[in-house]
Amino acid sequence: MRIAIVGAGIVGVTTAWELAADGHEVTVFERRGAAALETSFANAGVVAPGYVTPWAAPGMVAKIGRYVLSRHAPVRFAWPITMRELAWMWAWRRACRLETYLANRARMQRLAFYSRERLHAVTERLQLEYDRSAGYMVMLRTERDRRLAQPGLQVLRDAGVRFREIEADEARAIEPAINPDTPFSGAIHLPDDEVANCRQFALLLKNQAQARGARFEFNVTVAPLSAAEPTSLVFTSNDTGATGAHRFDAVVVCGGLDAAQMVRPLGLRIPLAAVHGYSISAPIRDRLNAPRSGIMDERYKVAISRLGNRVRVAGSAEIGGRPDVKRASAIQTLYKVLHDWFPGAAQLANTGAAVQEWKGARPMMPDGPPVIGATGVRGVWLNLGHGSSGWALSCGSARVVADLISGRAPEVDIEGLGVERLG
Ligand SMILES: Cc1cc2nc3c(=O)[nH]c(=O)nc-3n(C[C@H](O)[C@H](O)[C@H](O)COP(=O)(O)OP(=O)(O)OC[C@H]3O[C@@H](n4cnc5c(N)ncnc54)[C@H](O)[C@@H]3O)c2cc1C
Repeated sequence: MRIAIVGAGIVGVTTAWELAADGHEVTVFERRGAAALETSFANAGVVAPGYVTPWAAPGMVAKIGRYVLSRHAPVRFAWPITMRELAWMWAWRRACRLETYLANRARMQRLAFYSRERLHAVTERLQLEYDRSAGYMVMLRTERDRRLAQPGLQVLRDAGVRFREIEADEARAIEPAINPDTPFSGAIHLPDDEVANCRQFALLLKNQAQARGARFEFNVTVAPLSAAEPTSLVFTSNDTGATGAHRFDAVVVCGGLDAAQMVRPLGLRIPLAAVHGYSISAPIRDRLNAPRSGIMDERYKVAISRLGNRVRVAGSAEIGGRPDVKRASAIQTLYKVLHDWFPGAAQLANTGAAVQEWKGARPMMPDGPPVIGATGVRGVWLNLGHGSSGWALSCGSARVVADLISGRAPEVDIEGLGVERLG
């Protein structure tokens, strides 16, 4: 089949690879000049399937209320907030009901475990070499944090995840560079989880897809699909302004945040919202003072990841606000958490080093799981809305879409991931 993919983020690239590997004639359209320049650019890189859960969870509304006045709040509202975002928050609030949460968590985790298997299989098969480190620790600052973590541990047990609840001394042995002056209660150690560089992986896999014949058209913006001819793409070159059109047998929309407006003319209303987050990435100053792999500060919901010769600190969730305006206090929280745990790890701006400060927009569905599969419109497929876990879910989602397009049953149960749940 001749298949067009809209978007070359991690989701579009993994989809391109799987479809090209199945022998389809694939063309990827991307408005930016290269792959993974938007949300897939500088995420935390965490692949921890047991921690892939919806944000719409019981108790979240009260939790966010308590954060409002806190300086280092992990979740915030920013101005302006649009009507669409208010509607999204209403749907999110309804999805916080216990049964809805449990069902969505099961859906996301099934896909996440499958996705990690696929990530490893693809990495091994293609001998891809990218920055990655094995193991992940969730740091618990106080006894209270430890108590609050207990329900999550039951989730890990139920999912069969290998983990250990450890004391601070053992955590320090696993990550010897942890600040000796930072007291903490303990940690949860997950040896099978990992952190890895999403963008590097995307660029390597793009090359592999190209080697299988996939074409990537960069600097090309695709217009919203037309109801009359949904698989005929109309696109404009950002360089020359020239427009073109091409008919395909199928189109897979992987356009991240802007995917909703692409399929709106087909009568599909996808309630995606941007939940902004931030990261800083800095060169390592001294390997002995740097983390060996990934940790998550459970109190501040900030991840610190070792990615090759760099350390990345990522976190914050901001609903509303403008994509081009960075909130200084959110970035300060990242520096604070890095300093709390690994004070000598990175060369920071005050030493003249090039520190990358980044803001990205998680393309999030209000209830949590992404939307994957057929749309009901002949030839149009979706792979979008992966929220805060798009890297961890990408390889599995891509394989599912490729299987569905080829008429095969996916290897993982995809109940509740399709457009049907949108009503
Ligand atoms: C701070 C932060 C930390 C995160 N940490 C993690 C983590 O640790 N683990 C994890 O799994 N996930 C994490 N995520 C989430 C993850 O980064 C996203 O879920 C993922 O990148 C989404 O990928 P995507 O391909 O759907 O979207 P994008 O990467 O945004 O790709 C969509 C692409 O479509 C293109 N596009 C859109 N419309 C058009 C059009 N009309 N024509 C042409 N091209 C178009 C865009 O230019 C873009 O390149 C994090 C996100 C943030 C912000």
